[in-house]
Amino acid sequence: MPLTATQGDMERDAPFYQPVGHECDLFERAFRQRLPLLLKGPTGCGKTRFVSHMAARLGRPLFTVSCHDDLTAADLTGRYLLQGGETRWVDGPLTRAVREGGICYLDEVVEARKDVTVVLHPLTDDRRLLPLERTGELLQAPDGFMLVVSYNPGYQHILKSLKPSTRQRFVAMTFNFPPPELERDIVARESGLSREKCAALVNLAIRLREMKGQDLEEGVSTRLLVYCATLIATGMPILEATRATLVEPLTDDEDVQQGLLEAINATF
Ligand code: ADP
Repeated sequence: MPLTATQGDMERDAPFYQPVGHECDLFERAFRQRLPLLLKGPTGCGKTRFVSHMAARLGRPLFTVSCHDDLTAADLTGRYLLQGGETRWVDGPLTRAVREGGICYLDEVVEARKDVTVVLHPLTDDRRLLPLERTGELLQAPDGFMLVVSYNPGYQHILKSLKPSTRQRFVAMTFNFPPPELERDIVARESGLSREKCAALVNLAIRLREMKGQDLEEGVSTRLLVYCATLIATGMPILEATRATLVEPLTDDEDVQQGLLEAINATF
């Protein structure tokens, strides 16, 4: 994108995101007021797409980190690495976002090690500071910097949930699966499958989501529906595509699989 990109260019080039409510407005207000944002919601319901869409719309570079249980503060801030016989400091994604005035998105932040919250705290209050102990720097986040984190409250981690002292530092919003007509349009646009066929898949997903809780930890995500529609659009028979995308990824339990297949057979 040329440096002179206009707001119109940026919106046009932003990855497709179908708003479901007022989330774009809230994101933009939080960004302009330099407030950090917490997105809650199940996997595959559009959180990552939303953040990349908003980063492009606001013209900010995006640094996305998928957090996992080995992720430490140093993975985010940076570390000294041996390069060509020399030891050099290499910024981690959080430090880069602070230096460059970008958006840092920490997906599934509760998975990360505890020491990560220690770096996030001074960044999420009005000081907006990132201390780099190893280099002795104290970085002041510029206006373009924004911290966005997400987590899935549905995972019911007993040990892993966001402490109130951390979550109360964020403006927060809940994501859920889009209403049926919007989800149909999203799946059709992403897969190229007709809206009629996508509507049938969304109806099926609603039925399968009702089985969540009884036997399933998570309901069918929009992402899996997009996969399913994409395979069907290549000419794959519907029952094969649904098994591969809406049954196998959800459970290993044969009885539960059978229940899902019965619901699918009743639909198609
Ligand atoms: P999450 O980050 O919540 O796990 P993603 O943002 O990766 O989920 O969404 C998974 C996929 O679902 C996306 O790649 C996109 O194809 C589709 N999707 C879900 N919601 C939307 C939406 N509102 N607009 C556009 N695409 C969406």
